[in-house]
Amino acid sequence: MPPTSHLMLVPSLACPASCAYCFGPHEGATTMQRETVEAVVRWQRTRDSDRTLEITFHGGEPLLAGADFYREALASITQGLRPRKIAFALQTNLWKMTPELASVLAEYQIPIGSSLDGPRDLNDLQRSKGYFDKTMAGYAVAKAHGLSVQFICTFTSRSIDFKEDIFNFFLENGLTLKLHPALPSLKSDDPNKWALDPEKYGELLVYLLDKYLENMDEIEVRNINDLARCVFTGRGTVCTYVDCMEDTFAVGPDGSIYPCYRFVGMPEWVMGHVRDRPTQADLAGSDAGRRMQDFKERVDKECKGCRHLRYCRGGCPYNAIAPSGGELLGVDPHCVAYKRIFDEIADRFNKEIFGSFPMGPTCLPAEPPREGKPGITALIQKIVSS
Ligand code: SF4
Ligand code: SF4
Repeated sequence: MPPTSHLMLVPSLACPASCAYCFGPHEGATTMQRETVEAVVRWQRTRDSDRTLEITFHGGEPLLAGADFYREALASITQGLRPRKIAFALQTNLWKMTPELASVLAEYQIPIGSSLDGPRDLNDLQRSKGYFDKTMAGYAVAKAHGLSVQFICTFTSRSIDFKEDIFNFFLENGLTLKLHPALPSLKSDDPNKWALDPEKYGELLVYLLDKYLENMDEIEVRNINDLARCVFTGRGTVCTYVDCMEDTFAVGPDGSIYPCYRFVGMPEWVMGHVRDRPTQADLAGSDAGRRMQDFKERVDKECKGCRHLRYCRGGCPYNAIAPSGGELLGVDPHCVAYKRIFDEIADRFNKEIFGSFPMGPTCLPAEPPREGKPGITALIQKIVSS
């Protein structure tokens, strides 16, 4: 059993931004109440306490809940679950970051993930006018309080044409790059308008692999690190590439439990309620739990024979339902992108280590990386030593 379990808390589904490709429901202005947080603590006390619990605050926009919410919730969770090890994180667009909120979060050294899609014009074109400046203002407040902030960059059907500008923006500003492909939006009349085509996503990942290898001393590209780690260790290291259904749950503002934050607000994906303190078996036996299990079985069947199955596990179940309007019809449609980048990393790695043979008697690099640039072996060394 993995040493960590994950809980996503969604204090509010509301969001002040209006990103064109947003897949969230963003309905309801209910904010999570203190009683719900206390019920979460009571529920978690009944669960496996030997494992580290990673708690990520997500949205909507989680900072809408305000400083008092975090002051109380963080104290209540930390004290209520003692001595269990808790690792907090928070995903926000930073618009509502204030010095007061930043101080509360800094007290618990909470790492922040935010979202920025590249230079101002490109970003605001798809994330709404004024977004860039509001996020950067919040970023400045967070940094002034010593908080660590990393950005997720969503690539869409439009911004993909500007991938070089986007990469250079992250490089020149000394920002870690984590990318996310825009998904078909379940709440749009034209769901595929902004979605990134899976073939193009695969090409983008290979492009970023090469750009990363060229600039490895100056930038981190988190996805490439994660993908290389998967190939190198033979196991998935982020939720997309593991069976998330047994170790990850999300709690919405009203205390309903879902498989992941991406499902929050979709009634058909409610697995239970924190006030009932459901067991693992209760959650797995709910309709939503059974549908998640169906995904796992489908992966075992449809991905059988794939050389990457062990560390890909069919990708993300939410991605699998997003394009079909909420129905589970197959594995993650980004399969083509995953195969492309996993093949690229595995083949280059084998070639560098074993020459043209898939396996070899020595671990000395057999072929210098192309054009004398650092290769996958250099990337692996960087990952191992970081
Ligand atoms: S549904 Fe997708 S995003 Fe959510 S935990 Fe699972 S793999 Fe991650
Ligand atoms: S790469 Fe595709 S076929 Fe292989 S495990 Fe992943 S989703 Fe399945």
